[in-house]
Amino acid sequence: MYNIVLFGPPGAGKGTQSEKLIAKYGFTHISTGDLFRKHLKEETPLGKLAQSYMDKGELVPDSVVISMVKEKLQSLENSKGCIFDGFPRTVPQAKALDALMEERKTPISVMIALEVPEDELRKRLLERGKTSGRTDDQDLEKINNRIRVYQEETKPVADYYHQQGKFVSIYGVGLIDDIFEKICEAIEKKK
Ligand code: ADP
Repeated sequence: MYNIVLFGPPGAGKGTQSEKLIAKYGFTHISTGDLFRKHLKEETPLGKLAQSYMDKGELVPDSVVISMVKEKLQSLENSKGCIFDGFPRTVPQAKALDALMEERKTPISVMIALEVPEDELRKRLLERGKTSGRTDDQDLEKINNRIRVYQEETKPVADYYHQQGKFVSIYGVGLIDDIFEKICEAIEKKK
């Protein structure tokens, strides 16, 4: 099993690259943002709880995110590996994920971090907001808050994986296929 943490700020291209990785390698996609949006749509209690945080561009509390991921992992059967997208977003989430994966004897293989300048992120998110229906992509204030939260709370997660020798950084501006190729090279190297 090969497990990837696909890392980067909002708008870095994690979702786009995840889709391509799934098509090529058959990985299982675990996107906490998608899971929350599904709960929201189905109006579950978890969805209602998450909505208040997502609306402001704040992080949903760690305990809530971790138990949702734990449940998702328990439901997996015969997976070739997982792509974690938008998770872990804090160091406590990273530690909890390590514990969960160690328990399953399927540790994280690599963290691939997509690096994109902030101006480009704002541009991409506002553009996505025109069609995605995501209200958190339609308001510059919310976008700026998400970028700030990323810098303050999420970025330290990169150091956490760096210390484990699992960190790979890839420049995320350019043609989608070129970036994808670089990601695949990083995966093959760590296999
Ligand atoms: P983005 O495009 O900002 O990367 P996501 O779809 O990954 O967006 O997440 C949307 C929102 O869901 C976040 O702004 C946050 O409120 C919440 N969220 C998603 N994943 C997490 C997480 N791992 N920890 C806390 N909150 C999360």
